[in-house]
Amino acid sequence: MIKFDRVSKRYASGKDALRRVSFELPAGQLTFLTGHSGAGKSTLLKLIMMIERPTQGQIFIGRQNLNGFGNRHIPLLRRKIGMVHQNHQLLFDRSVFDNVALPLVIAGFPKADIGKRVRAALDKVGLLSKEKQNPIMLSGGEQQRVGIARAVVNKPPLLLADEPTGNLDPALSAEIMDLFHDFARVGVAVLIATHDLSLIARYRHRLLTLREGNLIHDGVESATPAAG
Ligand code: ADP
Ligand code: ADP
Repeated sequence: MIKFDRVSKRYASGKDALRRVSFELPAGQLTFLTGHSGAGKSTLLKLIMMIERPTQGQIFIGRQNLNGFGNRHIPLLRRKIGMVHQNHQLLFDRSVFDNVALPLVIAGFPKADIGKRVRAALDKVGLLSKEKQNPIMLSGGEQQRVGIARAVVNKPPLLLADEPTGNLDPALSAEIMDLFHDFARVGVAVLIATHDLSLIARYRHRLLTLREGNLIHDGVESATPAAG
């Protein structure tokens, strides 16, 4: 689903944020991207989203080489990618339903279709009963689940998350991780950037570790059920 082939990113400042990073993520795999602050995690996600461009190397999403993509391809690319942010970036001037519907409205889905898809996404994250509420009335964990529903509402084959549990306590974080695991099980490629290693041991997962822009570890880790 994603392939990085010797990808490097040097910012205009001269900072080498990624150095010849190569890996492949298949569909249906739960992968964690870890490393200290400044290791290059956000940069890697930004390259996938085409918020930044690589200085060298090639990135493939499905069969498509992003080097061949111009800016006009970006909306199409982003429709294939669900993105979950740490601070969920919900809009407090509208309902839970309307927050989740937003990507579909932007993509021009027909109204009847939007209702069906939004309710399916809210059902998946266990928030169907809250569709009419304003997200400001929800708990932090519920708000993050609304953010996840919005990220998956158009059924993207790829789900990215940047520190998705950064503001949550361990029990809520575990719930959020369970959701990501569910999406991986139905075939979504899930890539989660986090520095919180204690949370990620509940499932068999792939672990990528960056240090100062170098990919220093890439392996499949088995579950340790006692953790988390
Ligand atoms: P992480 O997400 O792992 O904390 P980042 O990808 O945000 O790491 O940053 C990697 C390195 O690149 C850091 O040294 C950071 O300061 C630097 N960096 C990130 N964005 C920029 C930018 N726009 N311009 C210059 N340097 C940047
Ligand atoms: P993070 O939450 O990933 O650690 P930061 O607080 O490091 O993010 O950075 C916030 C924003 O500033 C990001 O968009 C990042 O790319 C950018 N940035 C980080 N370091 C630098 C830098 N040295 N110069 C310019 N922009 C930077």
